[in-house]
Amino acid sequence: MTTAPNAPEIADLVRKVIAELTQSGGVSGAPAASLPSGFVGAVPPEPSATASCGRPAAAHGIHATVNDAVVAATTAFHQLEALGMEGRRRAIAHIRRIAIEDAEELGRMEFAETKIGRLEHKIEKLKVLGEKVPGVEFMTSEVFSGDHGLAVIEHAPFGVIAAITPVTHSLPTIGCNAINMIASGNTVVVNPHPSGRGVAAEGVRRFNAAIHRDLGIDNLVSLVAEPTLESAGELFNHRGVKLICVTGGPAVARAALQSSKRAIVAGPGNPPVVVDATADLDRAARSIIQGAAYDNNLLCIGEKQVFVVDSVFDRLLAAMERAGALRLTGSQVDALTKRAIVMAGEGAHRHPVPCKELLGQDAAVLARAAGAHAAENLELVFGETDVDNPFVPTEQMMPFVPFVRCHDLDEAIQRAHESEHGFRHTAIIHSNDVRAMTRMGRLLDTTLFVKNGPSVAGLGLGGEGYLSFSIATPTGEGVTTPLTFTRQRRCTLVDDLRVLGSPDALA
Ligand code: NAD
Repeated sequence: MTTAPNAPEIADLVRKVIAELTQSGGVSGAPAASLPSGFVGAVPPEPSATASCGRPAAAHGIHATVNDAVVAATTAFHQLEALGMEGRRRAIAHIRRIAIEDAEELGRMEFAETKIGRLEHKIEKLKVLGEKVPGVEFMTSEVFSGDHGLAVIEHAPFGVIAAITPVTHSLPTIGCNAINMIASGNTVVVNPHPSGRGVAAEGVRRFNAAIHRDLGIDNLVSLVAEPTLESAGELFNHRGVKLICVTGGPAVARAALQSSKRAIVAGPGNPPVVVDATADLDRAARSIIQGAAYDNNLLCIGEKQVFVVDSVFDRLLAAMERAGALRLTGSQVDALTKRAIVMAGEGAHRHPVPCKELLGQDAAVLARAAGAHAAENLELVFGETDVDNPFVPTEQMMPFVPFVRCHDLDEAIQRAHESEHGFRHTAIIHSNDVRAMTRMGRLLDTTLFVKNGPSVAGLGLGGEGYLSFSIATPTGEGVTTPLTFTRQRRCTLVDDLRVLGSPDALA
């Protein structure tokens, strides 16, 4: 088994790659020293990418400036247009193949660089994106056929899309966005989270190198090598960018919503769970553990707080222990809360946030922070809290779930609604009462509403439907597909080509 490179090894590899790239000129417009740390790995050499044949060397998507990236993506957009649907399908096939075949290596790289989540899930997220994210097969047209001929609605690309991606799934989000966006004929420039830029650059470089070798097009996915808030702003405002897609927390969601361009915003969540008296409690416990423990609760859809009716509260907590989660005592919950949740912001904007040291860390680490003992392979810690505990309203992104005792179903649904903050992102219920499901569904009004399963079932992982790592919430597009990134165009032919009816009726 290979192991992820540690920091000194990454630094050595970066120096080696910088030296190689300096010789071949393989970073567009960049002094090689500005390559992101963690920019490691090698793509087999390409004869067509050498400067010796009189053309600039291939950048394979990595650019020093926003302008270089947008210019390269614009060229790639026109080249892709010329290759039709088959070209898109082949380009996407390379992204899928690399995501699956290199999942172990790239997953280890992402884990070593970001230092959050669980290695097995970093690897799995890459594999499932390769297998399940929808591509060209989602591209459909609609037709109206009637007495006045035909109108066809087709779905056209926007052009170059600006994408902002989170640290919680750096390369998975880029791969997923790229498949969706290329399927609909677009190209994309990514400003990744700075703490996940190394694996982002390595993945993008592999995708482009393979596509370039096969189709002769480079930079279908372009990346700003040293991403900052300023480069994100520059990208939003670049004339060559026709659409924005952001995946992240409240600040980037606000910035995108304030942009003068159309934005697709996959914003934050704080998914509540309700468990009522009719629920299958063992199934509920297993589901809560599966969803909340996945990648140490980094998923925006992951179960973050649970509201349980009093009549089954104690039995559900016993079921959680039977299913393998560790129950903390009241004083242990207090100790963990003091360590894990801190205050940020000033004045009226002061609010609780997860502390960086514990965000995305293993359940065993949280247990130790609480003063409890746990096996290293523990998946989840949990405990009873009151509704005022800051773990309840905070999107904590840790494998600790607070359980709140509620007098009845109405209180549980109301508390769930309040804790979701109107993000309208994801909610989960465990119940066999369809009226309870309906009431909760109507009040919370979320984009994803999962019944009797783990949150991940809402993304087609154990439930029906398809996968995306960008769930557009405030802007309403939902789980993104290729069609999310299209413009509708209507083509009308008056009085002809409706071949139904009598020939004698033709004028
Ligand atoms: P984050 O908000 O800290 O960063 C996300 C991205 O936005 C990063 O690239 C960051 O550099 C950039 N950014 C932050 N502020 C910005 C600003 N003012 N202008 C431009 N860019 C800005 O989030 P994170 O910690 O990387 O990811 C976790 C958050 O993302 C959680 O809130 C989670 O719910 C959310 N998320 C949502 C989805 C979804 O599909 N809805 C998917 C994954 C993550």
